[in-house]
Order: sequence, then structure tokens, then C-alpha cells
Amino acid sequence: MSTQEVQVKEIQLLINNQDVSTENYVEVRDPGRLSDVVGKVAQATVEQVNQAVEAAYIAFQSWRHSTLEERLEVLYKIEKILKDEAQELARTLSRENGVLYSTSLGEFDMAARAVQATIKNAKSFFEPVIKEDGDSWVSVEKRPVGVIAGIIPWNAPMVLTIQKVAPAIVTGNTLVMKPSPNSPMGVSIILKKIAALLPPGVINVIHGDAEVGSALNKHQHVRKISFTGGGQIAKYIMKDAADSLKSVHFELGGNDPAIVLDDVDLDDIVPKILGSAFRRSGQVCFAIKRVYVPESLYDVFYDKVCQFVDQYKVGHGLDERSTFAPVNNKNQYDQINKLIERIRNSNAKLVQLGEKLDPENWDNGYYILPAVVRDVDPNQEIVTCEQFGPIIPLVSYRTEEEVVKMANDTEYGLGSSIWTSNFDRGLRIARKIEAGMTFINGSGQSHLGYEHMPFGGVKQSGIGRENSEIGLAEFIEYHAINYHK
Ligand code: NAD
Repeated sequence: MSTQEVQVKEIQLLINNQDVSTENYVEVRDPGRLSDVVGKVAQATVEQVNQAVEAAYIAFQSWRHSTLEERLEVLYKIEKILKDEAQELARTLSRENGVLYSTSLGEFDMAARAVQATIKNAKSFFEPVIKEDGDSWVSVEKRPVGVIAGIIPWNAPMVLTIQKVAPAIVTGNTLVMKPSPNSPMGVSIILKKIAALLPPGVINVIHGDAEVGSALNKHQHVRKISFTGGGQIAKYIMKDAADSLKSVHFELGGNDPAIVLDDVDLDDIVPKILGSAFRRSGQVCFAIKRVYVPESLYDVFYDKVCQFVDQYKVGHGLDERSTFAPVNNKNQYDQINKLIERIRNSNAKLVQLGEKLDPENWDNGYYILPAVVRDVDPNQEIVTCEQFGPIIPLVSYRTEEEVVKMANDTEYGLGSSIWTSNFDRGLRIARKIEAGMTFINGSGQSHLGYEHMPFGGVKQSGIGRENSEIGLAEFIEYHAINYHK
């Protein structure tokens, strides 16, 4: 697939289904070819943020009364748009956030599945809840919340956007979406197409970073902030939200442990563990970020991991030969390289493996060879932090009690995984893990899991859940009516 031709996309704000230009545009560069400008994105002023919220607020007054059938009709059309646009827009996604084209394409598929699951869950979610006895009658009804601010990170922008838009719309809310400045284009193009299916103002899109986000957080007509991103920004949002006592829904970072038991088939699980750890070059909130290996298997596990990682071909996301892509932005690149340096200066052993596909373009992108770390202290930074990049530490353990304690000794609690050939043993350990989600012999939702697992974390990995019927409940308020006979 050619990476040579560059089409610069100009992205405007979207308010009331109108393109709105601004005086300030920010360039988007290809993380795999920094000399290429691939987009220019309008940056909102605070006044434009206010206009977007007002548009959503006015639209809410009528959209809240739309029927479930009308909303489901829109969702079926969103699913079709995602399928129709996938081939072309996956290129745009790879161009702006750097990931492999196959990963971008898969993201459209995931987004379409999120819509399908929302459709299915919404039907049962809105079943009436009515209780009655001789004295009285009670109805527990579900109302939309109002204007939702949807704030999105760059790492998987399409699916993370749709996971907010579909449930928010089907429950009768209106939205102001703020994509990340590090991958604003693909989602803006899709959101414009989705907005066109709806009355003006139901979906609005603004662009910018902290200042724009903060204006959105503080607006009195925003009733809820649904944020996916890092814990530091979540703390700012919570403070901003306090003044008008807004509800917040946070999907935050993780430091997911993988616990390997001594009864596994290593040839089977090593590719699966690495597939999770290095998906999107390690930039996934629920990627495996530390692997606990029994002392008896440690050396052979390490060797197999290194053999596998050495096969990666690191190159541009649109190069068909690439199996490993660059990281997204300069901040990521600098942070990860500094972390690698600190690990090299410690007692742990770090190796960087894989092949540089296009050495002459290497310094023209945020390329980092994947790294494996062994002989690491369980309390060392690379084990306790969310590295969010292509480095995987292997920690040795002796007993089940010890490994459970190490897995839980963190402020994070998003995902986790247990690897075993014995389901009962895996389940027993899974139930001791402090996390929003535990996968046994996998890392990521199965088809059934995608429909029914509430996605999210405990401790500082989040507040609330996305997906499933439980995720729909983030977008409603309960209205209870009690008739005294
Ligand atoms: P980030 O927190 O830096 O930014 C996320 C979004 O917040 C961006 O759109 C940014 O412009 C916006 N923002 C910045 N300052 C703001 C403010 N004051 N008010 C409102 N919005 C503001 O995160 P990132 O670097 O884009 O993404 C990486 C992080 O996201 C990682 O920690 C990762 O684990 C997490 N993440 C979590 C999930 C999940 O579902 N749990 C999914 C993907 C990513």
C-alpha cells in the first residue's frame, strides 16, 4: 500500500450540522512520516465551545422526546456507515495515529460491533419496570441525562467515539464531542456523517486541547462528562465539573497484569500475550503491561518471548510489510525512550528486538523497536507505571499468594488476565484480582463478552462502565413515579 501520496484534509468544527471555520488551524502530521502534513484542524474558541453546547442544549429539548424506534433506526444507519467507510477511512486513521492499516480496519469492525451490541441491549434496557400491590403502583422510568461532553483520546479514536455516541443517542441525549488533537480527522469525518442522520445540534464536534476541554467541562448546560483518557486529565475534569455538580464517567489507564500459571502450553500462550502487550505498539489502555511468570518457567518463557518479538517488522502503518507501527506522538516517543534509558541504567536487563523495515525513514517517524525486560524488581518503575508503549517486563514469582499480592499492589485496576490449562484454577485466582475485568486465556472480549461485559476499571482506572446494558445506564437518569391508590 502506497504511503507516498498525501491528501491534506481540512477539518472544521461541526455545530448545528454546519461546518464552522476558525482563525486557528493546527497541523496533523503522520507519525510514521513526520515530513507529511496529512490534515489541518480548526481549533475552537471558548465562544465556539459555548455555541456547540447551546446547539446541543436546544436540540435536546426535542430529541429527548424521540421514540426508541426512531433512535434505533439511526443506529442501524450508523452501523452501515461504519462498514461502508471502513476501507477508505482506515487509511486516514493510520495516517494520523500511526497504527497498522489492519488494526485501523479492525477498529471499524469493533465500532460496528459496538453499535450492534447497543441496538440489542437497548431493546431490553427500555423494557418497562412496573410494580403494583393493593395500595400503590410504582414505575421506574429511564430519562436521558441531557447534553453529554464526550472527550476522546488518540489511541483508538473510532471505537472509543462510537462507544459513547451510540449509547448516548439511543438513550435520547445530545452530544458535544471533543476528539484528541493527536487523531482528530477520522472521527470528525464519521461524526459529520452520523450528525447528518439526526436533527441539527444532536451531535456537535469541537477541536482543541486543554483550554477547549476545560471550557466544555465548565459549561453549565453540560450535564455529564464521558471521558476516556489518562488519570491526570480526569482529575482536572473532576475539579472543573465540581462547580456545577456534573456527573462524570471515566475510562482511564491501566497497568494490567498477566499471570502465567505453571500448567500452560507456552507455544500457545506466548503469541497471545504478546499480541495483547504490543497491539498498537503497546498503546492500549487494557493491553497486558506486566507479565508474571513462575520461576520454574522463567528462562524458557523469556527465550520464547524474545524469539517471537524478534520477528516483528517495524515500519509505516500503511506499508504492507509492517507488523509493528510507530508510536503516536512526540510526548509518547520521548517518554518511552526516557523510560527505556532508565531501565538500561537499572539492574534489569532490557533487549530491543525486531527489524527496522525502512531504516532511511526511521528518524522521520516515532519508531521504537519493541523491548523485553527481564530480571526486573517487582517494585521497579516499569512494573508499577502505565508504560503505554512497546516495552514488556517479565517478573518472576514463586507462589500463588505472592503473585496475587503483586498483581493487586497498584492504584490501577482496569483489566487483567490469567493463563492456565485448568479453568477452575484460573477462575479461583481471577476472583482474587482487583480489576474491572479479568480474562482467562485471552486478553480482550470474546464475541459474547463484547455484548455483555461492562468495560471499565476499579481504583484509579475509572468511574463507571462502558458497553453492555450496564454501560447504557451511564446515559440515563432514573425517574421513579409512585401512585398511592
Ligand atoms: P489524555 O488524558 O492526555 O487526553 C485525552 C483527551 O483529553 C484528549 O482529547 C485531550 O485533548 C483532552 N484534554 C486534555 N486536557 C483536558 C482538560 N483539561 N479538560 C478536558 N479534556 C482535556 O490521554 P491520551 O494521551 O489522549 O490517551 C492515553 C490515555 O488514555 C492512557 O492513559 C490510556 O490508558 C487511556 N485510555 C483509556 C481507555 C479506557 O477505555 N479505559 C481507552 C483508551 C485510552
